[in-house]
Order: sequence, then C-alpha cells, then structure tokens
Amino acid sequence: TAALDRAESLIRTIPDYPSPGIQFRDITPLLADAAALRAVTRALIEPFEGGFDVVGGIEARGFLLAGVAAAEAGVGLVPIRKAGKLPRPAASVSYALEYGEAAIEAHDDLAPGARILLVDDVLATGGTIAAARELMTTLGAEVIGTTVLMELEALDGRAVAGEVHSLFVV
Ligand code: 5GP
Repeated sequence: TAALDRAESLIRTIPDYPSPGIQFRDITPLLADAAALRAVTRALIEPFEGGFDVVGGIEARGFLLAGVAAAEAGVGLVPIRKAGKLPRPAASVSYALEYGEAAIEAHDDLAPGARILLVDDVLATGGTIAAARELMTTLGAEVIGTTVLMELEALDGRAVAGEVHSLFVV
C-alpha cells in the first residue's frame, strides 16, 4: 500500500555503523511519524490476527514495535531481554554473534501453552530470533509466528530463524 511504501521510505540507511562496511537500517524516522507507525503496526499483526494471546518483544527496538502491536491487537506483552537485565529470569538462551556470544532471558509470566507472536525490527543473520523462539518454547509457550519490519535478504536469516513475516525486504 501507499502508506507502507511511505513507511519504508522513512527507514534511514546509515553507512559504516556500528562498524566499517555495515549499512545500519535506522527505524527512528519511521517511529516518529504517526501515519507510518500506524500502518506498520497494523501490517505486522495482520496475518496473525486472532491467533495469538501475547506478543514477545525483543530488546531493544523490538520492544517499541511489540508495545504498539500488543495495544493494537488487545493482548499483553512479554519482554525478551539481553542477559543480566531482568531481576528473576526463568530461562536463558545463548547464541553466537559475529564476534563472541550473547544471551537473552525472560521471566515466566506466560500462561502454559500461551500462543506468542515474536516481534523485532530487523532480521539479519536470524540468530536472535532463533534464540527467542527457543527461549519461549522452553518456557512452555507456543510460537505461532515471527514478524519484523525489515529483512536483510543477503544474510539469509530465514535459514536460521525459520519462517518470518517481513514488511520490507532489502
Ligand atoms: P540477527 O540476530 O538476525 O543477526 O540480528 C538481529 C538483531 O540485530 C535485531 O534484534 C536487530 O535489532 C539488530 N540489527 C541487526 N542489524 C540491524 C540494522 O541494520 N538495523 C537495525 N535497526 N537493527 C539491526
């Protein structure tokens, strides 16, 4: 749609951030625009509408989208955080980064068998989403889908993360 095309045009590409050779996709101009934020919020949840009980937001930009998506869908929200931030993590999953390792954690505030929709801003290598999927499954939730604003196709994140709904593919 025209609204989504416009939203995509508001994602800014920053060369050589956070390191030389990386093209960082900056979503803050999109977030700052009311019509664009509304359009992507609807489009992120639309294929899954009625099929999930809770949204899982991946730190940090995923939190922003998960918040608006949860409000729009009328469901609650579980933050999936980087290790060491939550006071009482119930589970932790480590995953490989380009250099080194990271881990994500969550509280166990999910109802048994809760159907969860994972939300993040960008799918790159897929490691983060694969780890989030494993984390939620460990906590007894059923991951019914994964939705992101933008997919970096050259990195083939789907090979690692599995099926992902992405609004924009670059
Ligand atoms: P992956 O684990 O798929 O390699 O990396 C995805 C994570 O890194 C996401 O949580 C995403 O926020 C972040 N990320 C990687 N590249 C970009 C980028 O170009 N722009 C933004 N906004 N986030 C990125």
